[in-house]
Parts: sequence; C-alpha cells; structure tokens
Amino acid sequence: MIRTIGVIGGGQLGRMMAIEAKRMGFDVITLDPQEHSPCGQVADEQIVAAYDDVKAIEELGRRTDVVTYEFENIAIASVQYLEQHGYRVTPSSDVLRITQDRLLEKRFIRSAGVACTDFAEINRVDDLPEASMSIGFPAVLKTVRGGYDGKGQWRVNSLDEARTAFSAAKGAQLIYERVVPFVRELSVVATRAADDSTVTYPAGENTHDRGILTMTAAPARVSDNARLRARSIATTIGKKLGIVGTYCVELFLIATGELLVNEIAPRPHNSGHYTIDVTQCSQYEQHVRAICDLPLAEPKLLSNAIMMNVLGVARGDHLTGEAELLSDPSIVLHMYGKRHAVDRRKMGHFTMLVDGAIDEPAIARAKAALAKLGWD
Ligand code: AMP
Repeated sequence: MIRTIGVIGGGQLGRMMAIEAKRMGFDVITLDPQEHSPCGQVADEQIVAAYDDVKAIEELGRRTDVVTYEFENIAIASVQYLEQHGYRVTPSSDVLRITQDRLLEKRFIRSAGVACTDFAEINRVDDLPEASMSIGFPAVLKTVRGGYDGKGQWRVNSLDEARTAFSAAKGAQLIYERVVPFVRELSVVATRAADDSTVTYPAGENTHDRGILTMTAAPARVSDNARLRARSIATTIGKKLGIVGTYCVELFLIATGELLVNEIAPRPHNSGHYTIDVTQCSQYEQHVRAICDLPLAEPKLLSNAIMMNVLGVARGDHLTGEAELLSDPSIVLHMYGKRHAVDRRKMGHFTMLVDGAIDEPAIARAKAALAKLGWD
C-alpha cells in the first residue's frame, strides 16, 4: 500500500504534484539541492541534496513507497539505482533515457510511426555542411541533452551561423533540426496507468517567447480532426514508451494539416497547469493516481481556459498588482514561492476561465490581465 510519495526535484511541478498528493492523503518527501524549494515548502519533508547524491537517493527510496520525478534533467543513474535496489520508481529509467536525449527521442518518435521534423546528429563541426545540405535553412541547433526553456538552442540561417552556434555550444553534442513553419503549436497532456489505460486532455495551443512558454489556451483553435489526431498520437507515444504517469507531447501543426511531434516530457507539463482549475482531476492528480495504482479520472474540461505564465524580470522579487488582477473573478492565481524573480524565471501562473470560445478578445483579456502584474 502506498502512503508516502518521493519526488526527485523540488520545482513548481513537484509543488503542484505535492499539493494534490497531500489533498488525497499521501505523505510527500522531496529531494532538491535548493533548501526551501517550491515543492519542499508544501511537502512533509525535503531532503536537501544533489539529484545524483546516491546516499540521499537511497534514503528517498527507503523512506517512501514510490518515487517519481518532476523534471527530466536529473541523473539517470539515480533512477537506475532505485530500480536496481528494488525500490519502486516511475517513470522508468528507460523512459528517462529516451526523453533526456533529443536524438534518441526523435528516433523513438519515428520508430513509433509518428512524424517529426527532419533532423541530423552533429558531433563535429565537420558534420554541419552535410546536415545543412540535406536539411537546409532556417534551422535550429539544440544541445542533445540538458536544454530547457529555450536554453541551449540557436536559430541559424547559414553555415557560418551554424559554425558560430557550434562554438557557442562548447563541444556539446547537437541536433540539427529544420525550423518548422507551424501554424499552431499544440500540446497534449496525457496520463498512462500500469494497466495500459490512458487518458488525454484536449490539445491546448501554446505560445512561446524565445523558447519559454508564455500562454496556453485550451482547447486549441484547430479542427476537431487535428485535435483528435493529436490525442491519438499522444496515446500511441505513451503506449510505445510504456510510461506510467503523466506526460506531455508537444506538436507542430503545419499548413498541410500534418502534425509533427517536437518533444515528449515524461512528467506533468507547464501547458497542463490549467487542468488544476477547469477539470475535476488535474494532470497532477492523474499522475498521483497512476503512480499509486489508482484508477484514472475522466479528463473532461468543465470550462475553456487560458493560462498565462508569470515570469520574473530581474527587477524586484515582490509581485505587485495582485488585487487588480484578481478583481476579475474568472482568474485564479498560482505562485510558486520562489524567493528571487530572476529575469524570465517562471515565478507563477494564472488561469483565466473563459465563458464561450477561445478567441482573440479572450486572449487580449488574458494579456491585459497579465500586464496588471509587476515586480517591486
Ligand atoms: P523545445 O525546447 O524543443 O521545446 O523548443 C522550444 C520552442 O522553440 C518550441 O516550443 C518552439 O516554439 C521552438 N522550436 C523548437 N524547435 C523548433 C523547430 N524545429 N521548428 C520551429 N520551432 C521550433
């Protein structure tokens, strides 16, 4: 019987997972190097240690009934250690291995019979001419491992620019991708249970600024057919990965109507925050259910929604304008308890419940609401 959940990573995703787990009656222990982390603030306890500190990982395994993680840039050896020593951990190290590595991930997507953008492996500067010949420009070079929120990515329009990006990457292995001229960026948040049941939330549409998610609107303004296909792709990927837990599949919709998968996150996702406020069972609760062998719930939207990320601007650590923001009764604010509002750091988000369709006036209202917030 599962009573205590261990979470590697103490960020906001872990925090929202822990809040749901606590509501459901579980105890939570998180592991993060940063004391008083967003998750540590709401968990029963935090082990303050590096993600690859084997002694601390062992302690987490010993003191909990199941271990999960809230972001994928943790040491794979930690997950393998737990597996090899008989501790229950999910998603598995196989899932983590594939989703930590953009090349393995893209090859996996193709092997699952799902389309993705053209790509090439770059190990040496001399690999660039052939990649650029076969794939062309504009392209994006990304570090194969460790990048997130637009970090470790360079847009390039010529071989010279590609060489400059290669130097900037300081020897890291890279993937060369064609820039997809998408008409919409979509994501499907899904949860798969050990009995192979899978639920998918309706596809949301995402807006990014320099690689960081700024807004998700749900459901996405695309055809029913595209939405259906996106959900079916997410289900296929979850099954082929054999993941147990909540995951997210990010996709590009192009003008021909084709969907190309960009990446897979083996955990709850920023674009699924809105599920806390407009579904009976959020992506975080579904994750807790899946890893604790509880049945999944219906992923039905009770209202349309727009989620706006609240990013730091490196000018003061205290949020201002909450009263003005919350004068709109359709808005729910979530802050993550981070002490310093570093530039473009994800500090919180809000969900705006939308009566009626997602449309430009609704998006303009959400943007105007965000503009009421500042930092002091
Ligand atoms: P990623 O870290 O791969 O999720 O990239 C962050 C964001 O950069 C994506 O959500 C897109 O907005 C953009 N992006 C990444 N790769 C591509 C691509 N191949 N074509 C067009 N846009 C991209």
